[in-house]
Amino acid sequence: MNYNDKKIDFIVFGGGITSDVLSLMLKNENKQFYVLDDNKNDKLVNSPRSLAISPSSMNLLNYFEIDFPFEKLNEMRVYESDLSNNKIKSELVFNNEKTLSYVVKYNDLKDSLLKKTKSLKNRLELDNFSSFELEKNLIKLVMKDGKEIFAKNIIFTQKIDSTLLSQFKLSYKEKNYNQKAIVATLEHKASHEGVAYQYYDNGKPLALLPLSKSKDLYRSSLIWSLDDYLADDILSNQDLKDVLHEKIGHLYEDINISEGPLSFDLDKFLLKGKTDKRLIFVGDSIRMMHPMAGQAWNQSLRDVSYIADALFESKNLGIDLISTPSFNSFKRIRKIESEGITNSIDFINYIYTLDTSISKGFRRNLMKFVNFVKPINKLLISEAEGGILRRPSLLLGERPGSKRI
Ligand SMILES: Cc1cc2nc3c(=O)[nH]c(=O)nc-3n(C[C@H](O)[C@H](O)[C@H](O)COP(=O)(O)OP(=O)(O)OC[C@H]3O[C@@H](n4cnc5c(N)ncnc54)[C@H](O)[C@@H]3O)c2cc1C
Repeated sequence: MNYNDKKIDFIVFGGGITSDVLSLMLKNENKQFYVLDDNKNDKLVNSPRSLAISPSSMNLLNYFEIDFPFEKLNEMRVYESDLSNNKIKSELVFNNEKTLSYVVKYNDLKDSLLKKTKSLKNRLELDNFSSFELEKNLIKLVMKDGKEIFAKNIIFTQKIDSTLLSQFKLSYKEKNYNQKAIVATLEHKASHEGVAYQYYDNGKPLALLPLSKSKDLYRSSLIWSLDDYLADDILSNQDLKDVLHEKIGHLYEDINISEGPLSFDLDKFLLKGKTDKRLIFVGDSIRMMHPMAGQAWNQSLRDVSYIADALFESKNLGIDLISTPSFNSFKRIRKIESEGITNSIDFINYIYTLDTSISKGFRRNLMKFVNFVKPINKLLISEAEGGILRRPSLLLGERPGSKRI
């Protein structure tokens, strides 16, 4: 894409799946934008990662006709356990007789997004990035080769570095879990029947998400969060298969690892501080949470959906995006929602790692309470599905602006 006057609406910072969806949304709204990205060749790297996508997020992906294989997750069983000693201590079941979420392999999703965004051809190399200068009317992007582009707004989709943080007077409040998530794709003969399992095994979440079948074999995605040293130990000994037989052999006797394992460092962070309103932060640029609840990308799509409604309002009222009431409520509501969800997941992770008798009793009673008090159970399902408070238009599968925020 060649914008003649180099004055555009947006610069999108980052080239992951959030940036891809954002690009489709901006294109749909006829906005001019460049994507600043280090993904030089738009090539897929082999990755065994899977994502649980909420029904609301699926509405948005369907709206943009993003097509990929998925498996429906119809029930989620959560256990407090000590699997090596064959002990299940308490159980919590989520099942509202509807699809709770859709499990998709990251690569299938990314592949489909790459096909959709390829034609936009509006990428700039992050390696060639020099600086942003916040001028009175526009933001100037300066590239190392001297190219200058002027934009009304920048939307950040990925964590920013210390140079940009200090330029914008922002900071990350970070917590390192000293944990790694081991991810792998497992094959087994027995059916998973669309059930996901989450074992808090001696406090560490081991999740199995149902995946679509391959060559007559059922597949599950493993996401197992462990203390760094334990994860490193399993990976360096290359004995994941044996460890899994010991832990989950009761569920699937004949586990084979068809992809992975790979590990991800686990951190939590939240972006702090006030800066120029023209700098917009979404997704992993603003928050990172523990993966045990499978919520991070769903939250990113929620950000994108709010901005889509605000763009509609900006066009309708003939004012800048950042002056719209929707954009201002986006900033307020999303800050509360985002910090709420990140901190709640952190709290759950914390209470499962505690080993005192009070914490054990608290966990068991809480699980029983949520299991048997149906309104609470349903409330948690609705929140995971895409929010109980508000759902912007795209999360309902509707044209941006059709639902007032
Ligand atoms: C173990 C784990 C499990 C998670 N589970 C869930 C979940 O169930 N539900 C949920 O909503 N969120 C989940 N998340 C969070 C989710 O993965 C991130 O929020 C999301 O990927 C962020 O997207 P992004 O746009 O910031 O960057 P990403 O798309 O993650 O990409 C970051 C960068 O790496 C490149 N890249 C990454 N992988 C590839 C690849 N295979 N091929 C080519 N390029 C690649 C991208 O182009 C980009 O430049 C999980 C995260 C982890 C670590």
